[in-house]
Amino acid sequence: MRRYFGLLVVLAAVLGWARWARGAPPEIIDCHVHYKGNPAFLEKLAAKMDSVNGMAFVLTPPSEMAVVRAFIQKHPQRLIGFGEISLDDPHALEQVDRFQAAGFRGLGELTKSLKDLDDPSYWPIYERADKYGMILLFHTGVLLRENPNIPSSFSSARLRVTTLDLIARKYPKTIVIGAHLGNPDYAWAAELARWNPNLYFDVSGSTLQKKSDDYKFFKSVFWWSGVQGLAGPGPAPNAFEKLVFGSDINSDTLEGFDQERARYREMLKGCDVPSASQEAIFSGNLWRILQRKR
Ligand SMILES: [Zn+2]
Repeated sequence: MRRYFGLLVVLAAVLGWARWARGAPPEIIDCHVHYKGNPAFLEKLAAKMDSVNGMAFVLTPPSEMAVVRAFIQKHPQRLIGFGEISLDDPHALEQVDRFQAAGFRGLGELTKSLKDLDDPSYWPIYERADKYGMILLFHTGVLLRENPNIPSSFSSARLRVTTLDLIARKYPKTIVIGAHLGNPDYAWAAELARWNPNLYFDVSGSTLQKKSDDYKFFKSVFWWSGVQGLAGPGPAPNAFEKLVFGSDINSDTLEGFDQERARYREMLKGCDVPSASQEAIFSGNLWRILQRKR
């Protein structure tokens, strides 16, 4: 008996070590943090992620790649780099190569494109990302006007959530995240996520404020939980698991992080989403994606 007990102790130690070696998932992974070039923000962000046992995807313009890379190397458990390239930049492909070589795991937020997001002229960029196993984070839906007095050539119409369908189908091994759940095309966003296993959404932006009196609304778009054959073979997992957490905070403030987390929690509670599914939304989905070997 004693001998078996000893064996059990050894087994438990080995299992514990294996878990430690793999790295336990953080409690929260934020896929949507904009870096605007203020290094003090990176310090604040890393400290915040330490305090919440979190991890953040830092969306980094090409001009800031070196600074962010050096900072991430000091905080690899807390920060993951994404290259915020412009799809219309003639040097976009070269930038993808450089971001990948610098250890960045994805591209985004891809937004303000001069053509539809699924335009064939952008396919070489997506192909390159696919080759590298990089995640793609797209803006979807309505686009703000930062300065309404300055004429601009952008249009929300080119960022419609339906443009992600072709991208997700064409690059089935690439993980695609649509930011803002297609605001206001929520039903479209959810239906596309239902049939595209590689497509996820964050609900950052104004949506959770807009719907704060009616969180049950989201049950009408994420409706297929447990239904047989309606999201691929077999019974579908909880439909809300097509969501990931994104705060859309930027250099100006970190307060939005807690606020957005609280809103997510309230919405998921209002929709009776079980805790295992909430874990997937706040961390598990993205953790699994980050561990993938390509
Ligand atoms: Zn956006």
